[in-house]
Amino acid sequence: MKIAIFGAGQLAMMMIQESINLEHEFIIIDPSSNPPASRLSKHIKKDYTNKETLDFIAKNYDIATIDFENVDITALKYLDKYIQVSPPPRSLEVCQDRLLEKNFFKGLNINVTNYASVSSLDDIKKFCRKEKSNYLLKSRRFGYDGKNQLRCSEDTTLLEDLLLNNDCIVEEIVDFQTEVSLICVRQDKDNFFFYPLVENFHDRGILKYSIFPYENKSLQKTAEEYALNILNDFDYIGALVIEFFVAKDGRLIANEMAPRVHNSGHWSIEGCSMSQFQAHIRAITGTLDCPASDFKSCIMLNVLSKYPNKEELNKLDKHFFHSYGKDERKLRKLGHITLVDENYENLIKSVTKFLEILDS
Ligand code: AMP
Repeated sequence: MKIAIFGAGQLAMMMIQESINLEHEFIIIDPSSNPPASRLSKHIKKDYTNKETLDFIAKNYDIATIDFENVDITALKYLDKYIQVSPPPRSLEVCQDRLLEKNFFKGLNINVTNYASVSSLDDIKKFCRKEKSNYLLKSRRFGYDGKNQLRCSEDTTLLEDLLLNNDCIVEEIVDFQTEVSLICVRQDKDNFFFYPLVENFHDRGILKYSIFPYENKSLQKTAEEYALNILNDFDYIGALVIEFFVAKDGRLIANEMAPRVHNSGHWSIEGCSMSQFQAHIRAITGTLDCPASDFKSCIMLNVLSKYPNKEELNKLDKHFFHSYGKDERKLRKLGHITLVDENYENLIKSVTKFLEILDS
């Protein structure tokens, strides 16, 4: 089939790499120069809303999908009139806006932290029952990887600035044991599956590393129940990831979701029978004939800001290094490393050695 991907970062790159044997034809749309996926596919270097591009895709392609959440929704709504758009535009619209997203979770009886829409310091003051340091001010939109968020105890000029330039919400900080995510794949109401939960560790709002699996039968069951309601509500097609806090009291609290493949699922390339990337492409093309299986314990570490010294890395245990071929920049995701071992304890022992090199 002919598939157009909006956004041409590492997620699009791995979607193409991981579905190479499925013999689809890809095109990527991305306004930036030389994005990671441009080495593997035809590249239209235009804005996502460029009318000529959209008409070309509508006429010549079967399916439109995304690697980037902030694709202008009007582009996908336009394409939806002519070709299959997966994820469904409504799911993207909800995921692009933290307020809509939290309202959506709440509507499905999924736990969320206390939150409110705010537009002034006074609104924040009225909302906060505890010390201001227990709350975060976040922009409703364009806020991935910890961007556009501040503790409410921050300098008032910074808070005012965020409020002035963005629609915002305030939310209570969850006292969590850990963070987990559920990678979901759905082709239609009868064909879907969930990967086991993965545990995620963030630094400054950015994913630093993930440990797979996070074994907890009861939380897995709850997460899957929540997820199935979400997927069915959207009549979702493709991969979708839900990020949760595991609160100190054991409750699962939804933080946010992404209507696409996700950084916390990169381990699946080496760690099981079918990666999230291939599963997404199979689901959107109607060829998901079985769920992923043969899961192995894995750790996935993000390479951020600068590339590690290869010689140092090669002295360590066996690992898989994936480079996205990007220029180095502070806190930019440049690649990832996956360690695979049948033995979970061995993995945990080696993670510190890898972190030392990545942090040096
Ligand atoms: P987000 O952009 O909302 O995914 O936030 C990035 C990271 O910041 C999360 O994965 C958490 O580590 C942390 N964070 C965000 N919101 C909260 C919250 N309400 N309570 C605790 N930690 C949070």
